[in-house]
Amino acid sequence: MEMVGTITSAIAAVRDRISAAAQRAGRDPSGIRLMAVTKGFPQQVVLDARAAGLSLFGENRVQEAEQKYLDLPGGLELHLIGHLQRNKARAASGLFACVQSIDRAETAEALHAKCEERGRTMDILLELNTSGEPTKSGFLSRRELLAGLESIGRLASLRVRGLMTVGPLSEDRERIHSSFAMLRSVFEELRAGGGLPFFDTLSMGMSSDFEIAIEEGATLVRVGTALFGHREQK
Ligand SMILES: *Cc1c(COP(=O)(O)O)cnc(C)c1O
Repeated sequence: MEMVGTITSAIAAVRDRISAAAQRAGRDPSGIRLMAVTKGFPQQVVLDARAAGLSLFGENRVQEAEQKYLDLPGGLELHLIGHLQRNKARAASGLFACVQSIDRAETAEALHAKCEERGRTMDILLELNTSGEPTKSGFLSRRELLAGLESIGRLASLRVRGLMTVGPLSEDRERIHSSFAMLRSVFEELRAGGGLPFFDTLSMGMSSDFEIAIEEGATLVRVGTALFGHREQK
């Protein structure tokens, strides 16, 4: 109860910041989805966040997500936001509504095969490394992403819903803006191209930079620390 109260006020504070950023950008805040990132937090945090009204959740490891989410009741939407290894495609196909972190055609093909076996379709986002930081995953350039999309776009069990990035680890707001602006321009280009009927999601922004991401057009922000406090691991 105590914890739910704390989370409820943290959610309200984050929603206020989302609304303020949307307003600055002349956007409707209802066009921005808030994802609760629960990596590094126990299952109780998921339950409390759910009780406090959140329904969209993100984890960055398949195994941790399995431990925390497999036995939960339905009605919550779970996305993978960390790198997917091919040998985890089977587990991922049973667990996630969306994999946001597709960064190569081979992984998408493995995921498609497992989804096909289960008779399901899955939403995916393509991740672009917009910061140039080698520790970050994602396609390394717009050109590589477009090349990957050539084959990924043909995989019948996967619906390409949009793009995702992790901004640079930097205090330099201009760098963060340009990282997000880069993703947005690829997003607009692909959307204008018209070949992707479900293309509507621009996932960018975390606790430290979601307001900048909203100013640059994010439709989904991924927030952990600002909702739940600091993680012990990672
Ligand atoms: C951990 C993580 C987040 C959330 O980070 P916070 O700083 O805790 O808000 C968002 N996106 C990805 C890909 C992450 O790994």
